[in-house]
Amino acid sequence: MARIVMKFGGTSVADLDRIKNVARHVKREVDAGHEVAVVVSAMSGKTNELVGWVQGTPKVVGANSPFYDAREYDAVVASGEQVTCGLLAIALQAMDINARSWQGWQIPIRTDNAHGAARILDIDGSDIIKRMGEGQVAVIAGFQGLGPDNRIATLGRGGSDTSAVAIAAAVKADRCDIYTDVDGVYTTDPRIVPQARRLKKIAFEEMLEMASLGAKVLQVRSVELAMVHKVRTFVRSSFEDPDAPGMGDFLNPPGTLICDEDEIVEQEVVTGIAYAKDEAQISLRRLADRPGVSAAIFGPLAESHINVDMIVQNISEDGSKTDMTFTVPSGDVEKAIKVLGENKEKIGYDVVQNESGLVKVSVIGIGMRSHAGVAATAFKALADKGINIKAITTSEIKISILIDGPYAELAVRTLHSCYGLDKN
Ligand code: ADP
Ligand code: ASP
Ligand code: MG
Repeated sequence: MARIVMKFGGTSVADLDRIKNVARHVKREVDAGHEVAVVVSAMSGKTNELVGWVQGTPKVVGANSPFYDAREYDAVVASGEQVTCGLLAIALQAMDINARSWQGWQIPIRTDNAHGAARILDIDGSDIIKRMGEGQVAVIAGFQGLGPDNRIATLGRGGSDTSAVAIAAAVKADRCDIYTDVDGVYTTDPRIVPQARRLKKIAFEEMLEMASLGAKVLQVRSVELAMVHKVRTFVRSSFEDPDAPGMGDFLNPPGTLICDEDEIVEQEVVTGIAYAKDEAQISLRRLADRPGVSAAIFGPLAESHINVDMIVQNISEDGSKTDMTFTVPSGDVEKAIKVLGENKEKIGYDVVQNESGLVKVSVIGIGMRSHAGVAATAFKALADKGINIKAITTSEIKISILIDGPYAELAVRTLHSCYGLDKN
């Protein structure tokens, strides 16, 4: 007998038939004698709809500002998960399984005060552990917890993955299964590249890079937690027949295991390709080239919570002036330009230029640490397709390349095949 946390994403609970199907997956594990906690997302599309209502309300009222109170955003958008956890508990009860729904505050899942993007600080797993020991399935609303102000706090988009891994750590689960609409983690998004291959295993560090660089199959924070707390996490499909052979295999369930790199026997040089849309590039022209100029630019941007990513600096011929180019999410461009304008004198630049609609494609693999020439291969393959590179950043295990938006899919496919990742 083991303890398993099962998480089901939005498409897996999109309607009552799918919720019934989820209940059958849960029943399989309960019938095998395991203690089970389930974490659910809202029905697919629901969170978007709720966010749209929140953003639309000030406009409809005719308010001067489009801004709203983040605590009320959380009160509204957390409701999607409240619905699905109740419905799944009902479905399980109707199948004669002892089940009870839990919202974040009832456990409680304690978070910090960053409403809309809160971090889990602590989970009291004792009640859940006790009930699971008595044979009750805990059905838990993902994406939400309770802030220090005793109000509902949500964990950022895709946050149910993080709820699941954090609960698995809190109740010391033997396994955390993330059920979604694909049957594992692929070498790249299988919806963009049909030749993508499913990975049997992927190392924590690689999954962390894949998720941070755009593969939304897991929320970044969930991978961090799995790595720190050594949670055995599988990504697998909820769309397969719950009772098909092998589905209940405890040691080797179908799907992708996220694990320590030592567990991976045949490490490839490149494991996967990720991409992130909606990047924007901002350039400051003719900056004074003196100590403190970077601090003068990036300090105020950080204080305004603008996430700066790639940074490139060019030195002019005479060495007295420089150009600085960096990227931010497209949605933050206006705010960034405003902040730079307010600090123009302190920074000392001539003009600021910006370009939106760019895409960052990234090549990821732990094997890069010990192989030369990985970057050169990418540059040549992109050049052969006539794709212009606007900026490059690298780390030990990844290369990120900024390109024009319309080339995104071509670039992802090109990189995928140039490293031999296409399935035969
Ligand atoms: P859920 O609602 O279950 O949380 P998400 O939509 O958040 O599901 O994540 C699953 C999606 O992630 C897939 O449908 C797929 O298009 C996308 N995805 C992006 N990159 C990858 C990848 N490398 N492997 C698998 N899926 C990926
Ligand atoms: N329902 C939330 C979202 O759409 C959380 C999740 O699905 O993980 O972002
Ligand atoms: Mg998700």
